[in-house]
Amino acid sequence: MHLAIVGTGYVGLVAGAGFSDFGNDVVCCDVDADKIDRLNRGEIPIYEPGLDDLIRRNMKAGRIRFTTDIAEAMRAAEVVFTAVGTPPAADGSADLSAVYKVAETFGKTIDKYKVIVNKSTVPVGTADKVREIISSVTKVPFAVCSNPEFLKEGAAIADFMKPDRVVIGSDDPRALDIMRQLYSPFVRTQDRIHVMDARSAELTKYAANAMLATRISFMNDLALLAEKVGADIELVRKGVGSDTRIGPKFLFPGPGYGGSCFPKDLSALVHLADQVGHGLDVVRAVEAVNKRQKRVLALKIEKHFGDLKNKVVAVWGLAFKPETDDIRESPALVLIDELLARGATVKVSDPEAMPNVKAIYGDRVTFCNSMYDAVEGADALALVTEWHSFRAPDFGRVKQLMRTPALFDGRNIWPTQEVARLGFTYEAIGRRPVKPA
Ligand code: NAD
Repeated sequence: MHLAIVGTGYVGLVAGAGFSDFGNDVVCCDVDADKIDRLNRGEIPIYEPGLDDLIRRNMKAGRIRFTTDIAEAMRAAEVVFTAVGTPPAADGSADLSAVYKVAETFGKTIDKYKVIVNKSTVPVGTADKVREIISSVTKVPFAVCSNPEFLKEGAAIADFMKPDRVVIGSDDPRALDIMRQLYSPFVRTQDRIHVMDARSAELTKYAANAMLATRISFMNDLALLAEKVGADIELVRKGVGSDTRIGPKFLFPGPGYGGSCFPKDLSALVHLADQVGHGLDVVRAVEAVNKRQKRVLALKIEKHFGDLKNKVVAVWGLAFKPETDDIRESPALVLIDELLARGATVKVSDPEAMPNVKAIYGDRVTFCNSMYDAVEGADALALVTEWHSFRAPDFGRVKQLMRTPALFDGRNIWPTQEVARLGFTYEAIGRRPVKPA
């Protein structure tokens, strides 16, 4: 099938690579000429494990190409995917300007029946609005589908190639046939395609993200309670997660959720609820808890030292989660801001995300290629992102390099007894602080 995918970010590139790998002819397009140039040179502009190999293989086979000529790509396509960003607008709603722009171009270029598919995360009612925009510029028949994407950055290829489910929102039988044909190679073992109306498909995406964020905020809220009542949230987590009705996933306390999806999607969902006069109180509470949680590490460090002027704090992990270079809404940025505001010197290290953070902070923080360089002369070490390399460091070496041996484990993954034996003080999230043994 001939496909155009508009927007070559995390979603557009992964979808383009995935569809081309299953034999489709894919043109990925973007307004960012620099990005397209880099892609045409074989450079992958984001870090996503496995993506470079997949794209290069399909470029070589002539199944995927990249262009800024969006109209041309649309003319050649039977199905056009919208995978552009839907960032938060100033009022918290989703900014749909790029989605509408794509719809307009689609309307202006369409010459025979085609399907336009919203893969971007968009509020309920967007498919109807897209249909209106296109109908206002063309009489050629077309269909609008909602096909939200559920991939996780860091595991995006596997998620796309073997999805838990594919949600398709449309009431056009011809479009549904095309979409089933396109996705059937991805879901061969069982029927994981959920067909529904576009509004339900749009809400399904927000509901999924809101549910996952709710689990995180719930555990983060309980973690602070655990600290106040002398319980250990890690034991509570295991006890709760072993209930098969609850399950163990997304129950990990931490420094608050970030990323390009949960924060903006919850905010857009609340905005949508406001528009129709619905409270949606649970989601509002989830947001409030997360906002508070992102400050927890900084507050713990401040409480430990009192004054942070003249203190050096090392931060391990900047990406909002491991295996990505994405720093959007990362709790590490809140920590850095809070530390700088209190006069601390901040040294950071991350395997992939440092260039993105450097673009924001410049020389206000010290960037260290080696995680051990970051702790040299530090009074505190804070773990924000649990990259593999940070999970089991050489604590003896860390202790030697630090000025004051104080660990702040934002992911509850370091071995408390071992670090205490080595002479560290240790604080985590929702656990009792540990003093040197
Ligand atoms: P991104 O910011 O990484 O990429 C968006 C791309 O769209 C950019 O390259 C940008 O230049 C391009 N773009 C913007 N306006 C354009 C226009 N008018 N025409 C052509 N290209 C344009 O975004 P992303 O993370 O890939 O997310 C895309 C959408 O998918 C969002 O709605 C997001 O919520 C959703 N989503 C993201 C993820 C994720 O993990 N990143 C997962 C599921 C869904």
